[in-house]
Amino acid sequence: MAYPIINNIIPGLPKQAFRNGVGNYEGVVAHSTGSFAPDENQVKYFQNNWQSRQAFVQFFVDWDSIRQTSDLNYRAWGAGPTANQRYVHVELCQTHDHAQFLESYKRYVWVLAWILKRKNLGVFDGKTLVSHDYCSKTFRDTTHTDPIGYLKEHGKTWANLVADVNAEYSKIDTNGNYLSTAKTESVEKCKIQLNGIKLPITGFLKAGVSYIPVRAIAESAGGNVYWNQATKQVKVNDHDLDEHIIDGVSYAPARELAAALNLSVDWDQPNKTVKLSQA
Ligand SMILES: [Zn+2]
Repeated sequence: MAYPIINNIIPGLPKQAFRNGVGNYEGVVAHSTGSFAPDENQVKYFQNNWQSRQAFVQFFVDWDSIRQTSDLNYRAWGAGPTANQRYVHVELCQTHDHAQFLESYKRYVWVLAWILKRKNLGVFDGKTLVSHDYCSKTFRDTTHTDPIGYLKEHGKTWANLVADVNAEYSKIDTNGNYLSTAKTESVEKCKIQLNGIKLPITGFLKAGVSYIPVRAIAESAGGNVYWNQATKQVKVNDHDLDEHIIDGVSYAPARELAAALNLSVDWDQPNKTVKLSQA
């Protein structure tokens, strides 16, 4: 698991199936607690008060933990009967501290993504991922508008949350573990020379194309490297490059990078070396 989930299941809760059956939830409701307290306090409160409040949820998330208070295979009582028979509920514990918010938000995004991923539900705003606000406006069983106002207090919109959950969903497996970014293709390394001098860096060959590290070469040859936000590409001088990022290093085809830096390029096959030279 990317984040551990602390088991704080409240004993004696009712076990009611979702409308599509035990375990068959259709999505998740994102809440915020409305009170400024850590998850352990929320857990204690609901342990003692779920019957009188007629309320409990599956998860509470704060800045240092995720706690599960009820079985996610059964309904919780989080946003009225219409939502409860469809959705799992996750509560984000509120804080005025922005650094704490950011930590809790990461866990919130992860647990929301994982709940959807483990049933392969996808991330669909208003369908598989909904706010309590959405439930109130759509099903009219409740009047709560969380977590919209609380997210706003920390500079996030509902659209931000949906996008962040969507991005996280694509990065994790059904157990919530982050997918390995290990290279599946084996790459052959190549050497690099500039003006006849071997550089202390290597490139790699892929499908007959040699790729060389952009920043190191550009700096050696006196070029400027930019990130082009519009095209999401690395840009050297005025050229957008077709880059490959490996372990945080940006590589580009030797011919493209050489053109951007106004260098000539030769490929020395017997020595597997890219030979760059300034005119
Ligand atoms: Zn709520």
